[in-house]
Amino acid sequence: MTDEGAYVSISDVLTPDLLHRIRERAPGYDERNEFCAEDLDELQQAGYLKALVPEEFGGLGWDLRQLVETQRRLSAYAPATALAVNMHHVWVSVGRQMVRRGHPEFEQVLTESSEGHIFAFGISEPGNDAVLFDSSTAAQANDDGSVSFTGTKIFTTLSPAWTRLGLFGKDTAATGEEGETPLIFGFLPREAEGWRAADDWDVLGMRATHSNSTLLDGATVPAQRIVRRLPTGPNQDPLVFAIFSSFLTLLSAVYTGIGDRALQLGAEHAAAREALTTGETLDQDPDIRYKLAEAQLRQLALDAQLRSIAAEVEAGAEHGPSWFPRLVTLRTTATRTARAVLDAALGTSGGAQYRRTSELSRLYRDALAGIHHPSDDESAHRTLANYLLGPLK
Ligand SMILES: Cc1cc2nc3c(=O)[nH]c(=O)nc-3n(C[C@H](O)[C@H](O)[C@H](O)COP(=O)(O)OP(=O)(O)OC[C@H]3O[C@@H](n4cnc5c(N)ncnc54)[C@H](O)[C@@H]3O)c2cc1C
Repeated sequence: MTDEGAYVSISDVLTPDLLHRIRERAPGYDERNEFCAEDLDELQQAGYLKALVPEEFGGLGWDLRQLVETQRRLSAYAPATALAVNMHHVWVSVGRQMVRRGHPEFEQVLTESSEGHIFAFGISEPGNDAVLFDSSTAAQANDDGSVSFTGTKIFTTLSPAWTRLGLFGKDTAATGEEGETPLIFGFLPREAEGWRAADDWDVLGMRATHSNSTLLDGATVPAQRIVRRLPTGPNQDPLVFAIFSSFLTLLSAVYTGIGDRALQLGAEHAAAREALTTGETLDQDPDIRYKLAEAQLRQLALDAQLRSIAAEVEAGAEHGPSWFPRLVTLRTTATRTARAVLDAALGTSGGAQYRRTSELSRLYRDALAGIHHPSDDESAHRTLANYLLGPLK
């Protein structure tokens, strides 16, 4: 709502002019391997970083379905910018779910987002295939309730801009006894000492995210910013569900937006190319039409899946043990579909689109990043196999 009490719609925030500027800047960020700073500033000024924050905490009061739709739209203009801002939205979505479920320690995410703070996602660690269920970062609990973290976080998107880093580590005093909760989650303020961002982001695609490694050396999170303690190993804690459901749904929105744009470009290129043999444009060629139609078929199937999962996460649907299989299926389908649609668009658009400066080429590189996000292909299949066949003996 605005001060006058009017509802702020998606196109009030992501105006056509703003989206146009964001699309114009995307190739330059990619070419120069530059962080999407102007995009982030403009999105912040437009109120987009508080989109999901409930009105009572000073936000726009959108729900997850609206944010998913908007992230998808933004990604069709600049995937890397959408992925960068996604990490902030993930924490806001987590905060919103946790507060709803009666965990007021997460209110700080909502109030601080509406005050202009930018949250980053400091979860991934080198070689940590347990992802959320164990940590190689040492967490030393201090007498005053604060916790000091030492270790390496990799791929910290928004590294030049975050003001709060949501992170976790493992209690150095843990003994491994049954019932312990050694994994400690908190939000590190940027002004804290004992950390630095490495300058190690030079990658194939999604270059504007600047997901540099974060080196923690006794970085201390004050007591009031420590929000949860969890056991190691898979568990059903609400925080685990909040992180997985927010992350996987919003990530899928970004990759669905890439597919939307690829289809649009594929159709435009087909309409613009004329065959010497027939004198007709390629959008009249039955083979080209079939290939693009097949890509559209996959994209529309994903569209339905994304919308329904976003609505069900928002509604708190009861899927019991099938929730995680559903979420990893969405994420796997979204990233695979983006690549498949791009294959079709590139395959029907002619050799000119293989140029490094072509938007389709850039989207292809961006879409490849989808391989690496959790839950990766092997992990998703483990989840699905366990659901269907039971755990490995
Ligand atoms: C564009 C993009 C943005 C991302 N943004 C975020 C984010 O904001 N927050 C977040 O938490 N995650 C983020 N991720 C990270 C992602 O979730 C994965 O964790 C990441 O891709 C690493 O995957 P991996 O473990 O397969 O990589 P690996 O290739 O196995 O490892 C990555 C790095 O760790 C080192 N390493 C691997 N194994 C070991 C070992 N045993 N000991 C020491 N070093 C080792 C490697 O040398 C390499 O430098 C992002 C990923 C991408 C592609």
